[in-house]
Amino acid sequence: MSYVIPAPAQPSLPVYGSDRRFPVRRIFCIGRNYADHAREMGAVVEKDAPMFFCKPADAVVADGMDVPYPQATANLHHEVEMVVALGGGGRDVPAEAAAALIWGYGVGLDLTRRDLQAVAKAKSHPWDVAKAFDHSAPVSALRPAADAHPSAATRLSLKINDAVRQQAVLGDMIHGVPGIIAILSGLFELKAGDLIFTGTPAGVAALRRGDRFHAELEGIATLAGRIA
Ligand code: MN
Repeated sequence: MSYVIPAPAQPSLPVYGSDRRFPVRRIFCIGRNYADHAREMGAVVEKDAPMFFCKPADAVVADGMDVPYPQATANLHHEVEMVVALGGGGRDVPAEAAAALIWGYGVGLDLTRRDLQAVAKAKSHPWDVAKAFDHSAPVSALRPAADAHPSAATRLSLKINDAVRQQAVLGDMIHGVPGIIAILSGLFELKAGDLIFTGTPAGVAALRRGDRFHAELEGIATLAGRIA
């Protein structure tokens, strides 16, 4: 097999305690999965019909790397989220079978061009330009599920320049991970290599050039970097 242009690089993330990396296939994100964030956005939570969007796999930025301030926005927002990495997949996966698909966990930022999202919402346009831009998905190294599992009491937090901006416990999620996997697998066939951003709590706000971020999923993963 030879390609007519150089094959694009396979996006991947490091793994805690290993020299081997996790290859990223797709990035799925759930919206409005914490009631306090839905409220701050003026959105109505539809419990039975969560909304999803995607980012391209090559939007991942590894821990410790600078994130270039994106083009075409004057209002870049942070959304700290637990990230679930799948080691298996399927269609129409029942919630009871979802845990077996999880390879590991990390913490990430669903970076958002909030001004472009506001335009998209007003015009009933898709969210791609607001959510799926280059470098829009900084993600920590991944912690294998064999080594550590988050619980409802696990804290998710984000500091910007050492000040706490967002914090919650995972038990505040409207849809837990098995439920997210069950619903998402009814819309897309999930596969090994997929990442799922599981939603952000309240406190989303603007990032400026030079800001340092430090995200943590308590006891499992940390993510640090700078907006360049
Ligand atoms: Mn989000």
